[in-house]
Amino acid sequence: MHPHLVFWISAIVRMMIVLMGAGLGWFFWGAVPGLMLGLAGMIGLISVQLHYLLSLSDWLDNPSSARLPDGWGAWTEIFSRLYKLRRGDEKNQAELAEWLARFRQAMTLLPDGVAIMDDVMFLEWCNPAAEQHLGLSLLKDKGMRVTNLVRTPEFIDYIILARYETPLVLSFRDRKLIVHIIPFENRRQILVTHDVTESERIDMMRRDFIANASHELRTPLTVINGFLEIASMQPDLEVSIRSSHLKLMTEQGERMQRLVEDMLTLSRLESMEYAVRHERINMRQMLEQIFQEGEALSAGRHELVLECDGPDIIGSSDEIRSALINLVTNAIRYTPEKGQVKLIWQNLPQGPRFIVQDNGIGISAEHISRLTERFYRVDKSRSRETQGTGLGLAIVKHVLLRHKANLLIESTPGVGSKFCVQFPAEVAVAN
Ligand code: ADP
Repeated sequence: MHPHLVFWISAIVRMMIVLMGAGLGWFFWGAVPGLMLGLAGMIGLISVQLHYLLSLSDWLDNPSSARLPDGWGAWTEIFSRLYKLRRGDEKNQAELAEWLARFRQAMTLLPDGVAIMDDVMFLEWCNPAAEQHLGLSLLKDKGMRVTNLVRTPEFIDYIILARYETPLVLSFRDRKLIVHIIPFENRRQILVTHDVTESERIDMMRRDFIANASHELRTPLTVINGFLEIASMQPDLEVSIRSSHLKLMTEQGERMQRLVEDMLTLSRLESMEYAVRHERINMRQMLEQIFQEGEALSAGRHELVLECDGPDIIGSSDEIRSALINLVTNAIRYTPEKGQVKLIWQNLPQGPRFIVQDNGIGISAEHISRLTERFYRVDKSRSRETQGTGLGLAIVKHVLLRHKANLLIESTPGVGSKFCVQFPAEVAVAN
């Protein structure tokens, strides 16, 4: 049935009851009591309506589906409809609040910075990444103009020119950022920042590595090509000169081979696909072999000493051998004749330690932190003379990193150097 019809029927029924009551009063007790009864009935009906109207007005001050008043007559229908509407509203609101919370959380976790600004660049909201990238603080800077907060000429020019179709590469507070501004909703704009500092650094390292490696390879190649050219232009070259050329070419070929081998070792160590092997390394045996190789390299020019008191360890035998041998050969190569090179293997409370100590040329303090960089040499010509590739300590660093060990370097120019490899205690094998 139509709701209006229901409403009117129930209203008419109530009025009829009051009128019938008044009529019965008139019939039994006379006109005045009958009219009084009718009036009282009408006042009662109006009071009930006023009471519900008041309840509705009270409820509207603080509308919640939980405390909606119960109704009577047509009010039952009104309140039940209001209840349904309110419940729907509350559900939508809860869903909206949940979505907003989820959106906020997603924005907080986003590695890219997001800031929302109005059409004249006043900051309305930003996520923590944007705070970090641009040095903003939402609490302090909300409502401030972003161009007053990010005061770099490139950024201000970008805003003034408004060429937002191409992103801006911005160097800001020791970071390299890709900044993008996207207009939306007519009077708002989103600023997105992407931090490329780390990838730029890796790119730069890669470029440097390629440039250095090509340079290192080009030198011996030039020498070899030069001799080959001489050989082809002067076929009747004296045998002694030719054999000296061949000797030099062989040396350069060997140098290239060492370089390529070291580069391959480095790239293998760097690629995490190769897990560290966990094998028991007989350190005494390994160090005695390294010691003998050191003696062969020194060819009696140095005094070599080995003190071996430490335990066996767990690790990758090939990797550890190549790291330790690099340190020992360096000590021999950078120590003049009659110098001493001491190899010590000991067990300390913090873990096993390998020390190579020499009284060679030493290294001045400003070079020490850079020694493990690829192709870094204190003295390029000396390193070449001693057949160095410039990659030895970079290999040592990677091997130690993979074994959770540290390299400590102490050195004084003209006095000597001490390279310590500190292994963690857990790699030691109890004897
Ligand atoms: P290289 O192949 O040139 O020796 P490394 O990476 O092994 O390359 O060493 C880097 C640089 O560190 C060397 O060029 C040298 O200048 C310096 N160096 C390494 N070990 C010693 C040492 N025991 N005494 C003095 N200088 C050293």
